[in-house]
Amino acid sequence: MACLPVPYPDELLYSVIARYGVYAGITSPKQLLDEVFQNRKIIASVAFQGHLSQISAHYQGNSDLTPYKLLQGHTLFPLYSPFVYPNIAAQAKHELLTDCRHSAEVQLGKAASKVKSPHYLRYCPFCVTAQIEQYGEPFWIRRWQLPSLSVCAEHGAQLINSPILISEAHRHQFTALSPNVLLHSTPNLTNSKITMITAYAQQLLNLPERLIHPAQWSYFYQDLAYQLGFVRGKHVLHELIANLVLGYWGSHTLSCFGIAVSKEDTNWLKCLFRKHRKSFSYLQHLLVWQACYEQKLDIANILSTASALPHAPYEDIPISTEPVVVDQTRRAKWQRAVAKFGVKGARQNGFAHLYTWLYRHDKQWLMQFNQSSAKPKIAKTGRVDWSKRDKRYVRQLILLINKAETQLGSSRHTVTWLVTHAHIPLSQIKYLEKLPLCKLFFNKYCETIEEYQCRRIAMACIRCIAKHQILRTWRIERMAGLNEKRTRPLASQLLGFAVKYEPS
Ligand SMILES: [Zn+2]
Repeated sequence: MACLPVPYPDELLYSVIARYGVYAGITSPKQLLDEVFQNRKIIASVAFQGHLSQISAHYQGNSDLTPYKLLQGHTLFPLYSPFVYPNIAAQAKHELLTDCRHSAEVQLGKAASKVKSPHYLRYCPFCVTAQIEQYGEPFWIRRWQLPSLSVCAEHGAQLINSPILISEAHRHQFTALSPNVLLHSTPNLTNSKITMITAYAQQLLNLPERLIHPAQWSYFYQDLAYQLGFVRGKHVLHELIANLVLGYWGSHTLSCFGIAVSKEDTNWLKCLFRKHRKSFSYLQHLLVWQACYEQKLDIANILSTASALPHAPYEDIPISTEPVVVDQTRRAKWQRAVAKFGVKGARQNGFAHLYTWLYRHDKQWLMQFNQSSAKPKIAKTGRVDWSKRDKRYVRQLILLINKAETQLGSSRHTVTWLVTHAHIPLSQIKYLEKLPLCKLFFNKYCETIEEYQCRRIAMACIRCIAKHQILRTWRIERMAGLNEKRTRPLASQLLGFAVKYEPS
């Protein structure tokens, strides 16, 4: 038995095996394979390390390190499994868990995906520092190796490519994250939407397994279009969906992700909202969800809703105008749910399945009932008391800023940040002309880039002094995520004062 180290949270199995090699002083890749797998032909895989039952056997029955738990917690399998045909996911899982050759990269669509996996192993220098502080050594983790996303969600910083190339030529080699692969470059900070989607991808990695059939995804997206109000009759209004998604992300970002939305009728975004004939990558799903829900995106809820939808192929489900079955209990349940949450709210609060059932079996009643329940709301929106609303919002904003001014570590205070943290719906920003007090507030309290840099410098100095470290320009810059080129004049002046300061 090789004495494999216990994986750290989120650590790749690839990294665990590499660390074992370092501990045992093994320099030959073949010898390492011999000791761990008793087989020199095993392939080292960053995303999907296979032969999990053999790896698990080294832990001698530790119930936290079963082959299945290793798969879910220490490979990228959870990023792919909810989005492919369940039988394919099950086949790939079986092959990875048992001691056999696997073709997970091909089966799960990683190899052919437009969403490209990184060529080099990557790391975040801030996380590495934290790992060394907490565990005494650095190690490769899953969330640095997400396809098409090259950002650390924890630190909002661009990841750095290590010199370790993930290639055929090194396919039998496990390389540890040791100090000599670190490059000591300072990462750039990145835009907050990309940081947010990376954080969502990270959540996805840590959710329990859900197998969802493409037919269920078809229903889910039809339902989503309906919720957004982007349906006329039976037709999905693809143009409005494209406006929403492209308006949120910008076409440049989508191109950088490798999934630009073309003008063609068969572009992936249209296909996502039609009957699914193929699988889509995790990133395509996530970026549509984020554009629709932003900060309110609840991935666990989406996966559980989608997995409860019908399995039968999209066209096979009769959408009848006459009720096939009149189920008074279900009707009453839906009426109660709508009374409590409203039509849209009921579907978001655990009644989506009931809605789908009624839609399929009792559509006419459902539509009539929903329409009659929606009417009063429409009447109300015409008579908004903007002045009252303005005062209420500005009160919420003042409460927030009083709190935020003493919390130096928060993100940059932009309009979006202030609005979301004051619990004001983001959609209200477009009515700013009707909200003069709020407008005045934003003019006064939104932070410029320069002001935000100064705040980060102050934070870095406080952390240095707390750790009894000498205030050095490079140290403060690194902690604050700044570099010479990007630092604005006022911030660099402040930095100059700070390094001359000697705490008593
Ligand atoms: Zn990080």
